Amino acid sequence: MSTPQLLYADGQGNILDHPGLGMAGSAGGRWEPVEESQCIPLPPGSELFLLPGRLPVGVDDSGQFEVMEIDPANGASNVSAVAAFLAPAHTATLWSAFQTRPNAPVLPLFAYAAVGLAKERMVVTAIRVDPLPRQDPDKFPPAQRLQESGRRLLRKFRHNRLMQHLGHCAMGYGCPAARNLMLGRWEAPLPTAGACNASCLGCISSQPEGPFPVTQERIAFTPSADEVVEVAMHHFTNALDPLVSFGQGCEGEPLTQGDLLEESIRRIRARVPQGTINLNSNGSLPGVVAKLMDAGLSSIRVSVNSLIPERHQAYYQPRGWSLADAVESIRVVKAAGGHASLNLLTMPGVTDRPEEAEAISTLVQHTGLDLIQWRNLNIDPEIYLRVLGLTPPQERIGVAELIDGLRRRFPKLKHGYYNPKLPA
Ligand code: SF4
Repeated sequence: MSTPQLLYADGQGNILDHPGLGMAGSAGGRWEPVEESQCIPLPPGSELFLLPGRLPVGVDDSGQFEVMEIDPANGASNVSAVAAFLAPAHTATLWSAFQTRPNAPVLPLFAYAAVGLAKERMVVTAIRVDPLPRQDPDKFPPAQRLQESGRRLLRKFRHNRLMQHLGHCAMGYGCPAARNLMLGRWEAPLPTAGACNASCLGCISSQPEGPFPVTQERIAFTPSADEVVEVAMHHFTNALDPLVSFGQGCEGEPLTQGDLLEESIRRIRARVPQGTINLNSNGSLPGVVAKLMDAGLSSIRVSVNSLIPERHQAYYQPRGWSLADAVESIRVVKAAGGHASLNLLTMPGVTDRPEEAEAISTLVQHTGLDLIQWRNLNIDPEIYLRVLGLTPPQERIGVAELIDGLRRRFPKLKHGYYNPKLPA
């Protein structure tokens, strides 16, 4: 069994391999040694992060963990841990192992997978959970092509504020879903909601009191049903393998725009009897979900950080609803013949605890859930654990092992990362 080498950053931000320490990882704050067999090559499109105020942790030849304080290359002490922000379709099985210095800054809203060096190439503790190439970097054409397609669409739909907003998302932020709309393929986003009925600790578009900087601006207007339908119809009429999704990173909770969604879906469905119309949501309003199913919604993806009520409550800080409503929304979609996914915001050492695994199984058994999307939770792990009141796990299953176990127990249950285009 071979161990990848520890990677660290020196005072100039150069990423170097440590001559004597092996790679370690972290699961909910518990450090673990890493074997090469647990790793895959760093996926193209991933980013490497230097973690400010965090000391790298490695494993010495005797298997002991060592907090690295001195740079072996020059004896300097300003070393930092490094991590990988994985490309889409990949789920981290261990996060970066580090020791936080006093007064270290909060880490921004990203996921921090463990990264090391094996056979002269960077490797990460991760698995690819979805084979679909939708957001693979090598599937995006040169930026110029995107700009040309985008500008053409924005001219054609110069009166449509939603298309203009999505043009900004695609060409400003590089949002993969908005880029696919501009390029005429796969899943197109339909954001509608400026407000939300929750205050997630790790919300990427709104942090009124939170410790984190937002990574996405929230949509600042409510599009009309005409604007929503026009964008959707353009996509269904022109795109390769099209589907459309309400509920994006640049908005609040779409269920708070129930009437707008109901009218939009009814009008789209009237012209596209078979197309996949999906809703990404926190699942807070099952009554509204029932109306949307009646209007022609195809599928729902309900996001949760945990299926343990107090952990969901601590993260989502829901206003006037609870995890039970989110589960009920899944039931409503299944009862209406729709497709239901769980967007499981995953952190090793939390999601793969035995009680979480049992709660996932109970949900699948009781709702007939179709798919689990294993998305990395983007958050500073130490703040997350503190807010959930969790200490490093005594016992954990392993993220990959959890997925394998669910595959065996529920053969019909699918695992992935993207919303499926449903068969006609
Ligand atoms: S449900 Fe979504 S929009 Fe609302 S606070 Fe949470 S992450 Fe933000």
